[in-house]
Amino acid sequence: MKLIEGREVAKALRKQTPSIAEALRARGVNPTLAVVVPTDDEGTAWYVRSIARAADRVGVNCRIEQLAQPDHDDLVAKLEALSADENVHGIICQTPLPENVKLADVAAHIAPSKDVDGANPMSLGRLAAGLETFAPATAEAVMVLFEAIGFNLDGKDITMVGRSTVVGTPAALLMLDHGATVTICHRQTVDLEAECRTADAVVVAAGAPGLITAKHLKPGAIVIDVGTTPTEDGQLVGDVDFESASEVAGAITPVPGGVGPVTTQLLLRNTVVAAQRQNPA
Ligand code: NAD
Repeated sequence: MKLIEGREVAKALRKQTPSIAEALRARGVNPTLAVVVPTDDEGTAWYVRSIARAADRVGVNCRIEQLAQPDHDDLVAKLEALSADENVHGIICQTPLPENVKLADVAAHIAPSKDVDGANPMSLGRLAAGLETFAPATAEAVMVLFEAIGFNLDGKDITMVGRSTVVGTPAALLMLDHGATVTICHRQTVDLEAECRTADAVVVAAGAPGLITAKHLKPGAIVIDVGTTPTEDGQLVGDVDFESASEVAGAITPVPGGVGPVTTQLLLRNTVVAAQRQNPA
């Protein structure tokens, strides 16, 4: 069984961003990612700090916009202001959102040119239509991890567990685009085990620790675990029972240290790319 080292893949991605950031700064553009934080959730705060640290390392300015108990209109106003601010090149909005606020609803107010995490429904539509767009960074990270281990998706059977608009659906669209036959499973799926057991690769983004075990996997299957659930002792656990799955899988991502670090680097890379496009030489 091969361990898919997300941290190593992230390190390789990290090499590309600083030189682009540097070239932008030489032209008077300080590449800036605005992170809108509408919650005081500790898990979110931890993730935002990790983005800020990673941004600092690659020369991207991270502007954290903490909002105290915002409602829908407050969030829309903030996202519109950042979209209009020429000193901001990328915008992401963290979750959890206040009750009754839908991410797609507010993210529709992120300028598509700054939508570095593909959260605006326009970006998802463009992805579905096969048009140039920023895909959600986590979905893109899944593709980067497949590529890192030399797994060619063309003609492969892949089961995607989870159908959210931020991970499962865009990841499935990207996998389809790369030639895979994709089965999408979700809470109402009747026989998850059967849907997974025939797949060459299983990608899991359910937020359900221990959901996928050895019995769900075909021998040699590739397993990408997107899930990150915080435990009471401050750790993160994935959706895959790593110990059991690793007895059958051909390759598997750890949690933490799998999808997460790659996602962060893609966000930062997208930010410098967005800054370049907004400021052509
Ligand atoms: P979500 O709650 O919006 O969606 C979860 C999906 O999984 C739903 O489609 C649901 O039907 C399905 N699901 C849940 N339980 C299931 C079960 N028992 N059987 C089959 N399907 C089931 O969550 P999300 O925002 O898509 O995030 C999913 C997970 O990925 C979470 O743990 C989240 O923290 C993590 N995540 C990680 C990263 C990263 O960079 N590593 C980024 C985003 C999300």
